[in-house]
Amino acid sequence: MTQINQTVSTQLEDDIYVISVDNPPVNALSHAVREGLVAALEALAAEPAARAGVIACKGRTFFSGADISEFGKPPKFPILPEVMTAIEECPKPVVAAIHGMALGGGFETALACDARIMAPDAKLGLPEVTLGLIPGAGGAQRLPRLVGLGPALEMIVTGKPIGAAKAAEIGAIDRIAEGELLAAARDFARERAAAGKRKTSALPAPARDEEAVAAQTAYAKKRLRGQIAPLKAIEAALAACDGDFEEGSARERKLFEELRGGAQSRALRHIFFAERESRKVPGLENVSPREVARVGIIGAGTMGSGIAIACADAGLGVRLVDLSEEALARGLARIAENYRSQAAKGRISAEEAARRENAVAGATSLAPLADCDLVIEAVFEDLDVKKSVFEQLGGLARPGAILATNTSYLDVNEIARASGRPGDVLGLHFFSPAHIMKLLEIVRGAETADDALATALALARRLGKTPVVAGVCRGFIGNRMMQCYQREAGRLLLEGASPARIDAALYEFGMPMGPLAMLDLAGVDIGQAMRAKLDPSEYDFDAFRVHAKLVELGRLGQKTGAGFYAYEEGSRTPLPDPVVTDIIREIADALEIAPREIPDREIVERCIFAVVNEGAQILDDKIALRGGDIDVAYVHGYGFPRHLGGPMKYADESGLSDVLARIREFHAQSGRDWLRPAPLLERLANSGGALSTYRN
Ligand code: NAD
Repeated sequence: MTQINQTVSTQLEDDIYVISVDNPPVNALSHAVREGLVAALEALAAEPAARAGVIACKGRTFFSGADISEFGKPPKFPILPEVMTAIEECPKPVVAAIHGMALGGGFETALACDARIMAPDAKLGLPEVTLGLIPGAGGAQRLPRLVGLGPALEMIVTGKPIGAAKAAEIGAIDRIAEGELLAAARDFARERAAAGKRKTSALPAPARDEEAVAAQTAYAKKRLRGQIAPLKAIEAALAACDGDFEEGSARERKLFEELRGGAQSRALRHIFFAERESRKVPGLENVSPREVARVGIIGAGTMGSGIAIACADAGLGVRLVDLSEEALARGLARIAENYRSQAAKGRISAEEAARRENAVAGATSLAPLADCDLVIEAVFEDLDVKKSVFEQLGGLARPGAILATNTSYLDVNEIARASGRPGDVLGLHFFSPAHIMKLLEIVRGAETADDALATALALARRLGKTPVVAGVCRGFIGNRMMQCYQREAGRLLLEGASPARIDAALYEFGMPMGPLAMLDLAGVDIGQAMRAKLDPSEYDFDAFRVHAKLVELGRLGQKTGAGFYAYEEGSRTPLPDPVVTDIIREIADALEIAPREIPDREIVERCIFAVVNEGAQILDDKIALRGGDIDVAYVHGYGFPRHLGGPMKYADESGLSDVLARIREFHAQSGRDWLRPAPLLERLANSGGALSTYRN
């Protein structure tokens, strides 16, 4: 064996030259790997005994992609396209032996090889769009030549990886390995040696497939609304149809470079890294989580039943308790219905559906929770009710069991104290529907034990959730920011913007729906019930007067057929309602707020910058560990457009000084205390700092 550098080695095995890459953990195509590959290919060309080469990776996967930590830095040669050229220019055939994942630049490397052989359980994909990019190293030119434009576009635009069977079917690989991959790859390389060199770039240009282009353009505009990269990916792949590989590659590279330098890719990369970081809490590195196998859930309502599904899906045993027999039956029926539908759609087998459904056992007393490792409370949002539940749990749950509350706003410390064992208590704030929404806000109480927090983080991983750790305050990170967003929307109503106008402006910004349509969906009464328990001085009472009036009139949103909008029987389409216009006008008149024409830009900035300002305050209050955590929470829990990176990143990209100037204007114009610029925002704007990378 010859060691080319610290990551690449070669070995001549009979007449086949095996190039092995070992760059743990996931064989990213870092500079050393690229340099080693080019040197190894030169050695292959120069070795008289070698008839063909095999590129294979050690460890758990083939190349998982480019090394994204190099993205922000000046390019170091050889860059990836040069590696591709080296493979194609090597006079001897080269076979890629793929196991684990071949993603992004990894799959592009395989595409540049003469042929590809793949382990049956491996996957391939071009997920660059998820980072706001396109392939960039000739992948958008080679893949369509190999499989045709339609299947290539589907992979490049959706970014979704495919398995071996599909890859073989469309022609992305030549063979699925039987038996040991490397042995099969060597045999295959011998066959290729006999057949001679076959450059992917020299294959005929693919035919234009207008139907596929239209379908993928429609997909991108609908499912990836607002994102530039998927549309640029289509443009890059279409360049393959024009025939000249070099010109197509140059076009692809240029589009790639433009995207890489753009705000969307910066934002998507920020969120990608923030998601990885959000599960890490300084100080917990050497803390072992407690064992969790059996979970108890109290309250079989909307949240309790959803949390039960999330736990059963993860293979945990569940005891679901509701004091009301009827509510328990409804909760269990919801769970059964979920699994029936999962099985009917073919997402899981009927046996698996039955197994998961049976993993949830119902009860109407707390007694069966005594031997649970974790108990999650999801009863009514009422401090006294919750305190009474925790008081009972404190005595009943086994020592060491973790006691969690799913409260949206209440004081976790007070709830923890009621249990008499606050070290075991924390908040696990799931979002609705709990088995679908990815965000899990983990609320660390003043006395929460480190290993209890570590257990919550481990649970998040097990449930497939994205955790964000928050401190105790009303609404934690997400709902505290959401209240500010809703407050500005409420104010804008009074100042003359209609619900439809406000919602349209924020939809256009990229939110999945506007704030008022969202309230109609969630129930206008929920926020109102929370505010009813506050002193009017604790929040902007006037901003929510319309909401209060709607609730008083029984207009609770979609569930009652009317809220900020009217709904026709059986329809979820919001229709502007003159009754609401009158209510708003009446309240605004009484408050002596004269209606004015409000530009869309102001609507968006008022709502979004209110969120930014509160986010800065949350950081200053040390409720969030990092600016990135706030972005992760808002993207995953509230639908903030991922390609804008979350509110903190959006503010950084907009320029903190400009954001601050606008907030100052809004503050002066409103005369209200709520919009006062957060001191941290002022400090960072003055010092040239950033919110999205801020750390406590
Ligand atoms: P829900 O009204 O649908 O369900 C609450 C259930 O708790 C009811 O079935 C009720 O019978 C039961 N219950 C009440 N007191 C009980 C007790 N002492 N012991 C056992 N069961 C009892 O409410 P939900 O929407 O599921 O909300 C539950 C909690 O989750 C609340 O704290 C809420 O703030 C929080 N939350 C809700 C959402 C949401 O979108 N609905 C999102 C996040 C968090």
